[in-house]
Amino acid sequence: MPLHPLVGHAGARRQLAAAARSDRLPQVLLVTGLVGVGKQRLALWLAQLVLCELKELEPCDRCRSCRLVQGLAHADLHWFVPIPRPKAADPDKQVEEAAELLAGVMEERRAGSLWAAPDGMASHSMASVRLLQRQASLTSVEGGARVFIIGDADRLIPQEANPEAANALLKLLEEPPAGALFVLTTLDPRRVLPTIRSRAVPLRLTRLADAEVRSFLTERLRPAPSGPALEVRVGRGRGSIGGALAEGDEAGGAYSTARELLDAVLAGPGPALERALRQPAFAARGEFAAMLDALSDTLGEAARATLGQPVRRSVPEALLRHRTPAPLLRAMERVADAREAAWGNVNPQLLLAVLGEDLAEVL
Ligand SMILES: [Zn+2]
Repeated sequence: MPLHPLVGHAGARRQLAAAARSDRLPQVLLVTGLVGVGKQRLALWLAQLVLCELKELEPCDRCRSCRLVQGLAHADLHWFVPIPRPKAADPDKQVEEAAELLAGVMEERRAGSLWAAPDGMASHSMASVRLLQRQASLTSVEGGARVFIIGDADRLIPQEANPEAANALLKLLEEPPAGALFVLTTLDPRRVLPTIRSRAVPLRLTRLADAEVRSFLTERLRPAPSGPALEVRVGRGRGSIGGALAEGDEAGGAYSTARELLDAVLAGPGPALERALRQPAFAARGEFAAMLDALSDTLGEAARATLGQPVRRSVPEALLRHRTPAPLLRAMERVADAREAAWGNVNPQLLLAVLGEDLAEVL
């Protein structure tokens, strides 16, 4: 089954095609935009464009290269998505394990699975980075370009633990091998390590039109939604196919837990806060990470509100009393610290207790 078609983004496509056909395509791109808006799908489209044998303004969809890319089987296309951290102790074994995990994900994608958010604790661990370096050091199999896609590049783990490998990655992005194209994607460029961000040319994808989301859902979802159910999904998507596909409860759970925590922090010390800090026994580390992401999103929305920008989800009234975004941004930094600590082996309850105090201090 070929990939699901790329929806929308006509402007970005034109821009990329014009650059590619005049040999002005940057070798390292950072594609940003809403969750589920099609960033990695656009990266795959771009891979098809540069590998297509016809060199027109859109991939031809018919040549051998195009068909291989659409089947995720092109030997010069390397697609990295966040995966669980390999368990082996030996670094070489870890790389093998990462390669197997990635192959498994590609198998699912080939079977036509629709977009789903990666698990909260999945990452690009050192093993994935090593695998990327190994592949990048080889030459092109088909004799043409090579494309490396790094989805959710904000999941490139903080790499102080292994400065050697981290530096090698940075060097790779600074001086990419001839004919290699690196496409990184992320929801928010500020979440990507600054050292990586500074080496990439940004490309921002805008929201899709409701009509585009609607037509994708009716053509691709089985059973195809219709009537009010379809409109609820389109509305929930707010310009993103991924948002329209996500089950309402899944993301909703993380947001309501984050909301409870914020409400308790804002209410000040007392039994409610103690309860909030003690209460949620996170079944999986991924749930905890998802809650932190929801918390960060909510604080970000409040920061937007202080700047007079439209707010896209409900935020606690008490957060809106801030006149400037500064305290909210500081709170977001504390959440980011907790998120980083959560990659390690720190107990979520312990992190939550510290975070609660930190937030009470800055908010
Ligand atoms: Zn083609």
